[in-house]
Amino acid sequence: MPDMHNVLLCKHAEEYAIEDIKKYLSKYGLKKMKDLKIIIWKQNKEGIIRTTDCCAWCKKRLLKTNIGENQVITPLVDTSGSWNGAFKSSIIENAKIPVLKTTI
Ligand SMILES: [Zn+2]
Repeated sequence: MPDMHNVLLCKHAEEYAIEDIKKYLSKYGLKKMKDLKIIIWKQNKEGIIRTTDCCAWCKKRLLKTNIGENQVITPLVDTSGSWNGAFKSSIIENAKIPVLKTTI
C-alpha cells in the first residue's frame, strides 16, 4: 500500500498544518494539543474567503493526530462572501476524496 501522501495532486493546507503541529507538540508537549486550532479556508483572486471542508484524506490524517473535530474549523461565509464571525467544523461526515495523480 503506497503512502497516499505521495499521490495527492497538490499539497493541501492541512498537511502544512499537521507538520507545524508536530513540531509544536514535540517542543511544548502533547498536552498542548487541546489548545490548538486549525482554521482552513479558500480564497479567490479578489480576496473573497469561502467556507472549506477537509477532504477525506486530510480528515483521516488530522484525526490520526488526535486533534478534535471541533479544533479543525472554517469560517462560515455566505454566498455573497460576507462573514458574521462564526466558524464550523471542517471535518464533515461525507468528506470528498481528493484529486490524485494516479489511481490506486
Ligand atoms: Zn485535503
